[in-house]
Parts: sequence; C-alpha cells; structure tokens
Amino acid sequence: MIVALWTLAMLSALSSPWWATGVCTSLTLLVFIWTQATMLTTWVGWAQLVTLGATPWLLDAQQRRDQALLASSQAEEARRLARLSEAARALLSLQTATQQLERQISEMTEVYHITKDASRAAHVDELFATTAELTLRLLDARRLRLIACVKEPATIWHAGRSSDGRFLPEGAREPDESDRALLEQARGAASGGRAPDAPVQTGRVTWAPIRRDQELLGVLAAEELSAPRAATLGLVAHQLALQLSRISLYEEVEALAVTDALTGLFVRSYFLQRAEEELRRSRRHGLACTLLMMDLDRFKQKNDTYGHLVGDVVLKDVSALLQRNLREIDLLARFGGEEFIMLLTETDVEQALPIAQRLRQIVEVHPIRAYDELLTQTISIGLAGFPQDAQALPQLIDRADQALYAAKRAGRNRVARWAPDLSGERTPG
Ligand code: GH3
Ligand code: MG
Ligand code: MG
Repeated sequence: MIVALWTLAMLSALSSPWWATGVCTSLTLLVFIWTQATMLTTWVGWAQLVTLGATPWLLDAQQRRDQALLASSQAEEARRLARLSEAARALLSLQTATQQLERQISEMTEVYHITKDASRAAHVDELFATTAELTLRLLDARRLRLIACVKEPATIWHAGRSSDGRFLPEGAREPDESDRALLEQARGAASGGRAPDAPVQTGRVTWAPIRRDQELLGVLAAEELSAPRAATLGLVAHQLALQLSRISLYEEVEALAVTDALTGLFVRSYFLQRAEEELRRSRRHGLACTLLMMDLDRFKQKNDTYGHLVGDVVLKDVSALLQRNLREIDLLARFGGEEFIMLLTETDVEQALPIAQRLRQIVEVHPIRAYDELLTQTISIGLAGFPQDAQALPQLIDRADQALYAAKRAGRNRVARWAPDLSGERTPG
C-alpha cells in the first residue's frame, strides 16, 4: 500500500500539478505513520519517513528545473530563428536592390551605346539604322517607329522584332493615317507648351516627343512596350533630340559641301545631284549604268575593339583604295557612316559584276596600318542596274541596298546583284 501510494506520488511529481503530488505524498506519510508507528522509534524509521516524503518533491523540483531549462532553450532557439529570418529578409531586399541597380546600370550602359553609335550618324536613316536594334531590345518592345519631322514632309522609319526576337528593319516610308494622328497629338501638346517629356500611352503605342526646346523634331513610338521601360523610351527620345538637332545642322553644312571631311569622297547630297544628271544623260543616249552600294563588314566590331580613331583610319584607307581603283568617269561618294555608293557609268550589270568583285578583292587583301595596328577589312557590295532593274534613282538605290543586304546575309565579303525575289530585303545597318 505504502509502495503503491509512493509510486503514485512519484508519478504525479513527473506529470501532475503540485497539489496532486502533495496529496499523494501526505497519504503515503499518513499510512506509513499509521502502519509503521513502531519504526519511528528508530532513526532508520525516521530516515524512511523523510525519504518517502522528500523524494517526490525532489523529483518534482528536478522536473520543474528541466521544464524551465527546456522552455528557456526553446525561447532562445525561437529568438535565434527570428534573428535568422530577419537577416534572410535583409539579404533578400539587398539582393533585390542590387539586381535593380544592376538593371539600371546595364540600361544606362545600353543607352550610352545607343548614344555613341547615334553620334556618328550623319543622316536620319543612319541614325535609325544604327540605333533601332539596340533600342528595340532595350525597350523590350515589338515595334519601333521614328517619325522625323525636322523637314517637311515627315518621314517614318520602322523596325520590328519577329516572335523569336529577330530584328526586322523595314526602312523608310511616307506617313500614314496613324503617323499623322500621332504627330498631331505631339504637335498639339508641344504648341500648348505642356508636352510632357514623359512618354504617353495611346492604346498599344507608347510614344515620346523628340523636342529641341519647344520645337518638335519628331516622335519616337514603341508598340507593346513593357511598362517598366516607358521611362527609358523618354531617355532615348531625349538622346535622339540631340542627334536630330546635330544632323539637321550637319545636313545644312553638307548641302553646301561637296566632299566629306574624313574620307575626301563626295558627300551624299552632291552624289545624288550628279547621279540624277548622269541618269538623265544615260536615258537620253540609251546607255546603261550600274549603282553599287558598299558597306564595310563588321565595322562596329573594329571600332569596339580598336577605338574610333583606328576605325577612322580604316575608313579613310578603304575610301582611298576605292577611289584609286575607279575610272575618271565613275562617281564614288560616302553615303553614310561606313557605307559608300558608286555609279559606274556606261556599264551594265554584267560588266559591273567583275569590277565589283575586283574592288572587293582589292580591299580584302590590302593591309591597313592604323597607329600600332596592322589590320585588314572586307566589304560587301550590292548592285542594281539602270535601266533594267530600276528607272529612277531612288528605286535604283533601294534595289542596290536590297542586294547589299542579301550579300550580308549570305555571309559578307561578297558581291550580290539585285533580283526581283530580293524585294523587301534591307540592310540592317
Ligand atoms: P555589317 O557587316 O552588318 O555592316 O556590320 P557593321 O558592324 O559594319 O554594321 P553597323 O551598321 O551596325 O555598324 C556600323 C558602325 O560604323 C557603327 C558606327 O559606330 C561606325 N561608324 C560610322 N561612321 C563612322 C566614322 O566616321 N568613324 C568610325 N570610326 N566609325 C564609324
Ligand atoms: Mg557595316
Ligand atoms: Mg552600315
């Protein structure tokens, strides 16, 4: 009985509230005193009584100490976990901030590249050709449209991206209804003096005015632009405003100049004038002539690798080489950045093809010493013939350009002649 009650007291010390231990211990002691009273005359009896009474309480005290220890270590663990999750949160927000910063840096770098390329363009078509691809990628947009209205009538340049992300240049065209509406909208805002430099969204199109002070120079519009990139569109439009101002000044000077300062070749406007005369003469006398469009291959890479000063030397050298290998009667001009245009008079396409091949080879094997670099350069050439491929100069140029694009697509450092199935092709740069 005593053993049973004592066991009960011990068990309740392990799991029950303190009063249950008290009740069981008291009962144990009472039964012991009652049944073993005689033992209390000896010290052994008293020792047993003390043992019976004290052990459940000692066990109870130990149990409480253990529980308190457990609770405090659990609390410490919880505090540690809280600190850990706080640190993880801080790390995560730091990572997000870093990623945002990296995105901004890469965006600024791309805008810098756009500006760098744009600053070399001498004409609006070049400006668009050199910046459209990078701009489209930077804006993450489906289509890009530049409406330039520095001169009347406004001209529109278009480029897009295919669903697999390929760049699709589309060239220049006359303004259509939607271009005119966009221009009206931008003009209205500009004349009211309240044109926001911030981009405006009109349906699927986000556009930003390109302005020099209050004067509207154009509009840059992007279709299906991803929302966070809208501010970047404004940034690019601002850069284009600087470039369009510079180009319009350049064109004014160019209209007065005959030769290009860097290469010494004729400038585009002078070439166009002379080529028109030549075409009129050919028409009158029933003569053929061939137009060549030439473009330095991967020239951007040269600039990026060796710097623009070296690039300039390459450009000068190739120009001189082409000039040296022409007949007196032929016309050669720098059409734009690293593009040349050539009119071979009294020469049909069949006769022009070997001439073009020879020019290509001459450039290919020519070593170019530019400062400390010894370089080589290749060119691609597109041909179109008058009158068989086109009867007017703009069309002749367009078709030679399509052939040039075909030569680029075929791998560069080659000559291609225009064929009807090339219609719609265009040089990317
Ligand atoms: P592709 O073979 O397709 O023609 O490649 P690419 O790199 O030549 O074509 P892209 O049109 O992209 O690059 C032309 C480069 O020519 C970009 C521009 O910086 C450079 N450029 C244009 N004018 C000048 C100039 O006067 N001097 C120098 N150094 N570079 C120029
Ligand atoms: Mg090129
Ligand atoms: Mg080019």
